[in-house]
Amino acid sequence: MRSTFTSLAATDKKDGSRPGAFRPFRRAIGLLFALLVLTTSLDGQAQRERVDLLIAGGTVVTMDSAKRVIEDGAVAIRKDEIIAVGKREELAHRYEASRTIEAQGRIIMPGLINTHAHAAMSLFRGIADDLSLDDWLRKYIFPAEARNVTPDFVAWGTRLGILEMLQGGMTDYADMYYFEDEVARVTKEAGMRGVLGETIIDFQAPDNKTPEAAFAYTQKYLDHWKNDPLIVAAVAPHSIYTCSEKTLQDSAALARKNSAPILIHIAEAPFELEQSRAKHGLTPVAYLGKIGVLGPDVLGAHCIWVDAADIATLAHYGVGCAHNPSSNMKTAAGVMPVIEMREAGVPVGLATDGAASDNNQDLFEEMDLATKLQKISRMDPRALPAQQVVEMATIEGARAVHLEKQIGSLEPGKKADLIIVDVNAPHATPMYNVYSEIVFALKASDVRTVVIAGRVIMEERKMLTLNEEEILQRAKEYQKKILASLATPANN
Ligand SMILES: [Zn+2]
Repeated sequence: MRSTFTSLAATDKKDGSRPGAFRPFRRAIGLLFALLVLTTSLDGQAQRERVDLLIAGGTVVTMDSAKRVIEDGAVAIRKDEIIAVGKREELAHRYEASRTIEAQGRIIMPGLINTHAHAAMSLFRGIADDLSLDDWLRKYIFPAEARNVTPDFVAWGTRLGILEMLQGGMTDYADMYYFEDEVARVTKEAGMRGVLGETIIDFQAPDNKTPEAAFAYTQKYLDHWKNDPLIVAAVAPHSIYTCSEKTLQDSAALARKNSAPILIHIAEAPFELEQSRAKHGLTPVAYLGKIGVLGPDVLGAHCIWVDAADIATLAHYGVGCAHNPSSNMKTAAGVMPVIEMREAGVPVGLATDGAASDNNQDLFEEMDLATKLQKISRMDPRALPAQQVVEMATIEGARAVHLEKQIGSLEPGKKADLIIVDVNAPHATPMYNVYSEIVFALKASDVRTVVIAGRVIMEERKMLTLNEEEILQRAKEYQKKILASLATPANN
């Protein structure tokens, strides 16, 4: 713009030797032209606001309250936030993007939320299968953990777990494990969002010898991650069958003193219900309610063995619940009454559980299984339709982890956590209904690109924050170490 004006002015000066009658007229024309160009340019700039990233083209599945699905849509992102969601044409007119990612012929949807995991346990994938939950935990997992779980194990196991989750389109996960400060560090490094709970348990854990030591560790851990934009540090008393009443209450008090969420396994298997009735004369949910643990800051994993009164109690306290269909089917733990819980207003999210009980971290598979498990157990093919399952994997999952104001749908003002999914594979073509496509046809490997807090984490399946080759190599080295540790007799 400036150069146009300068060159016009220069031309005018050069004309100085010629007779003067037309000179003022030509100068006026030149100035007018310059002004016209300047005005047009300023007008254009005023209309087109700057954004950092525009995801354009494709079917935008917003999961907002109107459940809008926008064909040939777009999402505009500035910093870590969604600025606008709408038609591609409209957004391209309104926004000048530093970078545009083409999503033509693909699905753009909120990142999936995994509401219950033990990421580091990916190193125990397939170590002991075809067992009851009780036998699996006490005979295999707890001993294997006692001999192997160190900060380095947790760091590499978590990297492996979140590598798999990110490649499958998960942008946020809730985790319960030991050395959770390592889990948080690695998650932050990868650019992933997490609600990460340090496990409190009554026996000697790999990181802390006593609950008191665990409380001291957890306080430091909560302080360390306070106000982090990606990490929500949480307190995770393991369950009612591994924690005393005092441990449960002290865990809840610690969490509430620090305004941190509480993550806990609730009513997972029949033995837990039987023990609770025998010991407390109450169901696990009623017991947790009575001792003051339940509240709107609690995320309960499994919640299978719940009766109508328990469901009302969970709804009353605003407890979020994590449904883990693969894990529950594999350990024959039972079938969560998802439909009754949703009807009562309990936010129910979907989850993978740890890879030692699942054995993969694949929320597309969990979506497929969640609806089929309800259909077959009720002998009703209408049970839990596809759209409701997508809700569970996105906006309901966000409610379950109590982050619904920030994530779970594509809406202006929310964090820019989204995925781009290919729908051109033979198993995904043609697409009549986008929700059916997501739940029944698509696979985790169809996810092409992952954006978390406005940052591209995976692009066309290339990991930008994690070294896949190194992670797989380290996992294989750990496999040898873990096998060797189990071959020698116990010394603890
Ligand atoms: Zn679990």
